[in-house]
Amino acid sequence: MIPNDYRSLHCNAIRAEHIGQNVTLSGWVNSARDHGGVIFVDLRDREGLTQVVFRPEENADVATASHELRDEDVIQVTGRVEKRLTGTENTKLGTGEVEVVCTVLKVLNKSDVLPFHLDRELSNEDMRMKYRYLDLRRERMNKNIRQRHKITTAARNYLDGEGFIEVETPILSNPTPEGARDFLVPARLSPSKFFALPQAPQQYKQLLMVAGLERYFQIARCFRDEDLRADRQPEFTQIDIEASFIQQNDIINLVEGLLKSMFKAGQGVDIPLPFQRMTYQEAMDRYGVDKPDTRYGNEIVDMADVFAASGFKIFRTTLENGGVVRAINAKGFAGITTGQMIRLNELAIQAGMKVKQLAFIKVERNAEGVLEYKSPLWKFFGEEEQKALIAKLGVEENDIVFFYAGSWDDACNILGKVRTEIATMMDLTKDSTALNFLWVVDFPLLAYSPEDQSWVAVHHPFTRPKAEDVPLLDAGEYGKVRAEAYDVVLNGYELGGGSIRIHESDLQAKMFGVLGVSPEEQQIKFRHILEAFKFGAPPHGGLALGLDRIAMLVAGENSIREVIAFPKNNKACDLMTDSPTNVEFKQLRELYVQSTWKEKKKEDAAPAAASAASVDPIPTGP
Ligand code: ASP
Repeated sequence: MIPNDYRSLHCNAIRAEHIGQNVTLSGWVNSARDHGGVIFVDLRDREGLTQVVFRPEENADVATASHELRDEDVIQVTGRVEKRLTGTENTKLGTGEVEVVCTVLKVLNKSDVLPFHLDRELSNEDMRMKYRYLDLRRERMNKNIRQRHKITTAARNYLDGEGFIEVETPILSNPTPEGARDFLVPARLSPSKFFALPQAPQQYKQLLMVAGLERYFQIARCFRDEDLRADRQPEFTQIDIEASFIQQNDIINLVEGLLKSMFKAGQGVDIPLPFQRMTYQEAMDRYGVDKPDTRYGNEIVDMADVFAASGFKIFRTTLENGGVVRAINAKGFAGITTGQMIRLNELAIQAGMKVKQLAFIKVERNAEGVLEYKSPLWKFFGEEEQKALIAKLGVEENDIVFFYAGSWDDACNILGKVRTEIATMMDLTKDSTALNFLWVVDFPLLAYSPEDQSWVAVHHPFTRPKAEDVPLLDAGEYGKVRAEAYDVVLNGYELGGGSIRIHESDLQAKMFGVLGVSPEEQQIKFRHILEAFKFGAPPHGGLALGLDRIAMLVAGENSIREVIAFPKNNKACDLMTDSPTNVEFKQLRELYVQSTWKEKKKEDAAPAAASAASVDPIPTGP
């Protein structure tokens, strides 16, 4: 910090070596205490606290004025650094050995009483959002925002060091399909037309590769109009990367180095490289998800060999009909409560389970000391089958095994959710400091969407099919085609994902065709990219990392709202500025836009824009 008229030091800088010196500090009154007429103020700036004492014998006027100081007043003090009286030191503070005896006090701004205390956690999140600028004064939020800055800076430096060039791409742009709903912006100068806010700078970054830039990155703001969850926001930030003349391994190595530098900067830890790699198939088979949390076991086990000739008909026929029988041994969870069992079944039903209850075997010792296999199924299994089951799942006393028989997709989805819920119920990751990074590779290129009755891109339409699987694409075996796509995962969170791209115009057109985009539509929506790929497009690929999510994990928070300065709440509103907001009819008219929204059954409560529109129709042309 460069000293100026407001401050010679910041509030966390004064140490014993300054004793006897005169200093000037500026900041907020963190607290003011009256000790028998002597006022003690903890003065706070963003770096920390210094105790300031106002003694009448030092400066009577200043001491009198100090009685008026209230929490969060902004003041400037000048005074002499003294050693605190023996026994009154505060070992928890960096400045705890010393205090400043004030000789000059300037009140820079008085504060009203705050709507909430800054030194206590507040469960009312709306209140925190409404007064976000106060919420951000808290130590925890200050730390989170600064830690985010550190990891972003580390990312910039690392990528710069690797020869990447930071380029800004447009916010007002063309829709790019990333699988979410677009935010649209009416284009006043092109009546009836709209810009889309970028869901990701995907097409621009690929066009920068065609432009010969070779190595691009951007700390890019992205916009997706989705329903919100704790780790989603309508606008969020990606570290967006693209490079030419590279292959999957190059991107993986680069991103491992990048994440290492970010975690070093944020947490001071050295994460070991390389990360584990796992195919999509393996991740789904073992964990039921494509972003497995490997900090705990309870893996999904395929029981086909055990039950192929089972006396339990449901298992046998499921297998005969091409389905799967899979199980999870929840070690040490035989003491599951009735409430927990109900919750697990509810979860399984939500995930697609057709029956009301998960089949289970609970292994407990009875009063006579005999091990019992408590289960409605146990009696249907032959002795050999029972032995094989125990051996395969490593079943021991106090375990509970859950089964699912059905399609592979359902088994993954249901048991994957059951697995993570059991981990939550058993507190398996509580207080864990493990950082289990891994790569999931070999994703499928396409998935069939029953709602759309068409094939959709699992990643996005610009993702390259694996060369050896192109014949499958040609043969129409879309479900079997694997992509040159990869995701990086940490403790069950997807940190980012990317792919090697298609760089040939004809292959890109073929891919659009498979996705049901007609040649005419391709020309309207993607002419620029199809054309660009005809003018010498280099092989290229990239990835994007979710910066908010990484910052959240580095900070040990549970919601990305805690690492974003001004986030939206769970209804996608900014309560501080009260946005989104109604706009004047005149503004809408300039944009040739009319709201069709009507409040249900409450005619008199229609918003200004909608009611205005009904009396004054919108003109039809410029
Ligand atoms: N655009 C992709 C996304 O936002 C990332 C990438 O493929 O580079 O997920």
